[in-house]
Amino acid sequence: MIKVDKYNIQPEIVQQMNEYIKKSNKDGNERGFKLCKTLVNDDISTGSRCVGNYCSTDITKSKCDKGKINIGSFHTHPLSKVSKNDNTKFDIMSNQDILLSYRNKEEITCIGHSKGIKCYIPKEIEGCDGVTAYGLETEDESKHFLNKCFKKFEIK
Ligand SMILES: [Zn+2]
Repeated sequence: MIKVDKYNIQPEIVQQMNEYIKKSNKDGNERGFKLCKTLVNDDISTGSRCVGNYCSTDITKSKCDKGKINIGSFHTHPLSKVSKNDNTKFDIMSNQDILLSYRNKEEITCIGHSKGIKCYIPKEIEGCDGVTAYGLETEDESKHFLNKCFKKFEIK
């Protein structure tokens, strides 16, 4: 069991994340799934996963099993998504990811990249919400906001 803050993640889920990272790097498509849990404990399970090419970034299609609640999501940032860009640096949450995590009230957001899996847990402090995140434009602003407003965990 892997600990991410108060959450427990089974190695099998991490393995699945790593497989998605590999597949995404091959075809350039983002892949992901919802992260779910029961009300009884903090063991994370995954929402339904996509298969083959139908596995897109449209995580809304991933559903938690009955009796479980959606607490967050995982998605990949493929290296080859925009071939002209240097995608090696997109191993962190994008501005869009930050806004979505607030909008969806995510308790945990994990990003999969060749450099590894990073999970973010929002801090409940002043100046850290969707409204303040809305104005983020530059990479530096975004990085600063991430460091200030999220706890970061790297999963090996
Ligand atoms: Zn993203």
